[in-house]
Amino acid sequence: MSERTGTGALTDGELHELAGKQAALGEVRGAPAADPVNVPMIRHWLTAMGDEHPRYLEQGLAPPAMAQVWTMPGLRHGPKDRSPVDDMMIALDGNGYTGVVATNCEQTYHRYVRVGERLTPATRFSGLAGPKRTALGVGFFATWNITWYSEDDEPVAEMMFRVLKFRPPAKVAERPPYPLQPAVNQDTEFFWDGVGRGELRIQSCADCGELRHPPGPLCPRCRSAERAYRLASGTGSLFSYVVHHHPPVPGRRTPFVVGVVELPEGVRMVGNVVDCPVEEVRIGMPLRVTYRRMDDRLVLPVWAPEQP
Ligand code: ZN
Repeated sequence: MSERTGTGALTDGELHELAGKQAALGEVRGAPAADPVNVPMIRHWLTAMGDEHPRYLEQGLAPPAMAQVWTMPGLRHGPKDRSPVDDMMIALDGNGYTGVVATNCEQTYHRYVRVGERLTPATRFSGLAGPKRTALGVGFFATWNITWYSEDDEPVAEMMFRVLKFRPPAKVAERPPYPLQPAVNQDTEFFWDGVGRGELRIQSCADCGELRHPPGPLCPRCRSAERAYRLASGTGSLFSYVVHHHPPVPGRRTPFVVGVVELPEGVRMVGNVVDCPVEEVRIGMPLRVTYRRMDDRLVLPVWAPEQP
């Protein structure tokens, strides 16, 4: 028998064996959504996303990206809602792979879901890869798929989700890579390229000119996929904020302020408010963007009080 690292810990081989068992369970149905697809949730979502397209509320359709919203069990779900993924996650935690970061998410939409429909999720654990050495530490990549079914068993949406479960390094190097790297993809690359040059870029529609943030694949006004960007003036005012005290965040010292900044260009951005004592942060305060180097690769745009 190989050496075990602690109570309940499994060898790498045993983790893969468990992964094989979980995958062999196939698709496991979860509990049906607590509520049917409903207008209040759709309205909240549209407001939060800044999506003003009238179709959803006029026609009683849910934005497809809401798929997961309808069946999220919450953090404290009971054992009866356990999916094949949960047992795998618990085993990885027990082996010291307590860090988690999502690395891939792909959603496929088969059709619009209507108000009144009640969805049921089904989860299939599809793979475990590792242990692999990553910038965050040694870890395993776990992949699973969720399919949402209508009441007559028609799949309406699917999602492939992959996380890295990693063992946080016991001792940090002198200049560790900042652990919370932004997801840079074809929608967001222009933004991060700009930040690296000290430019704050706002995505715009190349057809109708509508500005949008966060960046996305489609124009919410005219549905065009043609994109461009504009440079922001770099000023803003604090629209809303929270002070983060707990839990600890890797690479950050608490407390810190996470703000939603209203830009004069008409979009809002999430960012840290810096160079200001936490107790002096106020809604409406004028801010100016500044750039903070987090590690050798990453620069983050943050917001400091605008000096009068
Ligand atoms: Zn447009």
